[in-house]
Amino acid sequence: MRIILLGPPGAGKGTQAANIVEEYNVPHISTGDIFRKNIKEGTELGKKAQEYMNEGKLVPDELTCGLVASRLSEDDCKNGFMLDGFPRNTFQAEYLDRYLTENNIGLDKVINIEVDSNLLVERACGRRICKNCGATFHVKFNPSKVEDVCDVCGHNLTQRPDDNEETVSHRINVYLSETKPLVDYYTKKGVIANIDGDQDINKVFEDIKAALA
Ligand code: ADP
Ligand code: ADP
Ligand code: ZN
Repeated sequence: MRIILLGPPGAGKGTQAANIVEEYNVPHISTGDIFRKNIKEGTELGKKAQEYMNEGKLVPDELTCGLVASRLSEDDCKNGFMLDGFPRNTFQAEYLDRYLTENNIGLDKVINIEVDSNLLVERACGRRICKNCGATFHVKFNPSKVEDVCDVCGHNLTQRPDDNEETVSHRINVYLSETKPLVDYYTKKGVIANIDGDQDINKVFEDIKAALA
């Protein structure tokens, strides 16, 4: 299964990615997670990416595209993959198309999770993440059993520095101007499945499974 997850910040991509990985046994490739790991480890890439991420801007394509191509060429992607947060603009989508064509790889589905902009700020600002295992929670919509403690691994939960109202609003605008055009792009290619993301987390996953069946 070769899948792309598309949707605005806070739509539920990471949450559904965890479900999809479990169900379809494909590697989860999140460019945001890769950048955050590099920031944590203090790499050169991390230092460069951090400036953009803190302002809610896209990390430049020349830092992003090659990274994804080299990840896709690893062995565990041979039988499938799930891209989460890439591509995010037309340049990246065309880059990915060239990579896939050159390597004779087809896409199965682009899962487009749709959520109205006015719900996204509350979703992102209430998000809590586990830096240890990557699990995602929400203070109101998907709380951990014990406050600020990860259900999966027991580590403390944290808030992403870019999950504040100002930065989230900026990220939503970036999504609308740069990423949303990809909905059209993939609709024309006939591979898109539009999923209503304003439903219970389990119902959203049911709809995704139906779209992938
Ligand atoms: P994305 O990866 O698209 O930015 P996340 O999966 O991290 O989004 O979800 C953003 C926040 O919204 C998280 O705190 C998550 O727990 C919560 N969330 C995800 N899906 C839903 C949903 N269907 N209903 C309510 N809250 C949700
Ligand atoms: P969300 O789904 O909540 O927007 P992500 O974890 O996907 O969060 O991305 C966080 C940040 O990482 C983005 O705001 C952007 O700065 C950077 N980023 C992630 N993926 C890309 C990408 N494909 N191109 C450019 N920047 C990216
Ligand atoms: Zn954890």
